Amino acid sequence: MNNSFPTKLFLGIAIFVSLIVVIGVWRGTIDTLWLTVVAMVLVGLGYNLIAKNRTMLVAFDPIWRNVLMDKVKFYVELDESGRQEFEKRIVQFFSAIRVSGVDFAMDDECRLLVASSSIVPFWDLPQWQYGQLQEVLVYSSHFDENYEVGSDHHILGMVGSGGNMAHVMLLSKPALYLGFENNSNKHHVGFHEFAHLLDKSDGEVDGIPELFLPKEMVNPWTKLVHREITRIKENHSDVDPYGATSDAEFFAVISEYYHKRPEILEKKHPDLFKMLQMIYHPQSI
Ligand SMILES: [Zn+2]
Repeated sequence: MNNSFPTKLFLGIAIFVSLIVVIGVWRGTIDTLWLTVVAMVLVGLGYNLIAKNRTMLVAFDPIWRNVLMDKVKFYVELDESGRQEFEKRIVQFFSAIRVSGVDFAMDDECRLLVASSSIVPFWDLPQWQYGQLQEVLVYSSHFDENYEVGSDHHILGMVGSGGNMAHVMLLSKPALYLGFENNSNKHHVGFHEFAHLLDKSDGEVDGIPELFLPKEMVNPWTKLVHREITRIKENHSDVDPYGATSDAEFFAVISEYYHKRPEILEKKHPDLFKMLQMIYHPQSI
């Protein structure tokens, strides 16, 4: 049970008002209709309060620091206050999003890497709370279009769409781990799928994160994207060819590149780098 100050205050007021109403009904000065109205208001207020304080129901386990120190380079490089902020966001993520293993028993290490994938790229966008995401389903290996698992299958991650998949993200566990373990390549499936979610914030996964890009930059961004996609198709680009599949995949792929190897991206693609700075680190512009 949550014993924060607002909860105690609410409980005190609820007991006081309930007593007055019960005495009123007993003495015949308040009828049952009012009793029902007051009860409904109190239940509504109580529910709201619990929802607001939900983050307090999950506590950061100090053991988790070992996992973050071992696996998450971004966390290691933060100072003490930055690490505390990171831990606060881990708690926020766990309070809002379920992380489940589809065909294996989920453990804290894997859950922490999922949460870190949602924190590292969006460190300077704390107002963005994972869009409409409600659950991340992790598979023990890569999977196919029928959600069948197999190491020879090709899907590493996916953001669900439509029906009951609209609020779900799917990830392959080995691909997720590789994103954190290999710090020299440009790949990170967690960053990739969360980039799709950021793109989806305006209602469309179209490679243009309109809520995070000044309106006048939409055209220049689209031109840059198409120019680079052409280069990829002509074999003149170091961007992962998967980015040439569509504008949406380009945004996710270039986001991985930006978060894993920003210094190379800035050198080789200064225009794209500037645009991504505007999207992910707006206060630095
Ligand atoms: Zn993708």
